[in-house]
Order: sequence, then C-alpha cells, then structure tokens
Amino acid sequence: MVTKHVPPEWAFEFHGHRCPFMPIGYRMGKLALEYLGVEREKDHGLFVFAEIGIGHPQTCFVDGVQAATSATYAKGILEKTFYGKLAATFYHPQKGAVRYSLKPEFVDAMGKYEFFAYRKKGVEPSQIPPNVVDEVTDWIYEQTDDYMFKVEAKPDFKYTPVKGSFNKNKCSICGEYVFERYLRTKDGKPVCIPCSGY
Ligand SMILES: [Zn+2]
Ligand SMILES: [Zn+2]
Repeated sequence: MVTKHVPPEWAFEFHGHRCPFMPIGYRMGKLALEYLGVEREKDHGLFVFAEIGIGHPQTCFVDGVQAATSATYAKGILEKTFYGKLAATFYHPQKGAVRYSLKPEFVDAMGKYEFFAYRKKGVEPSQIPPNVVDEVTDWIYEQTDDYMFKVEAKPDFKYTPVKGSFNKNKCSICGEYVFERYLRTKDGKPVCIPCSGY
C-alpha cells in the first residue's frame, strides 16, 4: 500500500528545511498510530523510543515522528536510545508496542538520488537546489509502506514511566527553582546540580 502521508507545511517549518527524512518519519509516525489504533497523543500516553544517536545523518526522521504523533521530546515521551539506527518503537500501555525500521534495500535505493551526493559533499539540506530535494522526496511518496518499513509487533515490550511530581524547592545557593527529582543536598541544604559541585 502507498500511504503518502505528506507532512503539512507547518511540519516543514518546524523542522527548518526540506529534506526526505522528515517526511519518512512523518509517515512512520502516522502508520504507527494506525497500527496501534490510537490518535495523535494529546498528553502523555504514547511513548516513542527513537533509535538514533548523535554524529550520524538521517536523524531528521524523528522530527517527522514528533510532528505526526505529538509524542514530543519536551513532553518527556520521546527518548533516544543512541543505537545509531533508523528505527523507532511506539508504545501505548493499553495498546502494546510496535517497532518500525527502515529497510536497508529502501535506504540503498534512496541513496542513489543526487540529494545524497550533495550531502556527502557537506552541503546542508537548505542549500541543496529545491528540485533535487523534491526529486527524492517525490520518489519516496510513491513507494509502498512495505518497501520502506519493517514492522515488528513487540508483545513483550515493557516500559514504566517515572512517577511525576509537582514538588520543587529553591536552590539554597542560586535561588532558582529545582524539581524534586533533581534536588541535591550540600551541607544539609537543598541545591541544584550545577551548584552542587558534583
Ligand atoms: Zn531534515
Ligand atoms: Zn543552584
């Protein structure tokens, strides 16, 4: 099946440039929501574990995942596992878990487009001619879900979110508020981590 799931314009604006990976992640996120039978996450009920790390390309897809699912970094429901892989596990406590990864054959086929020649020369995506970006992105929109993604049910996947707390206290040194979990004690007084010296 070809489910285009073309990202809305605001998602490109949020991401900052046009590239093929944000749309791939957007589609991955949409498909994962459909698979689990859940809507875009309004609050804190869907957890995404993105397997990207740092210092490698193609991490852009995770912004697409965030745009599609609203499982965002700042809500604390999107984490990176630092495996350096183009994959993500989507977990909903009532619906279970599914892992989506990009198939190597798809990644290899995509790599033949001129966009990647520019990237390997160190050209940033916003500096690549728009027609070169569109060429690969349009090709992706025509590919089947099955060609792009490996989909694995994860029936044994378990995750226990940390218990939230509204409690906070002022650091006795800098005077700034610190949430309970991150308070430390120095000379018997509450301090923040930077002021704690350890
Ligand atoms: Zn990008
Ligand atoms: Zn402090």
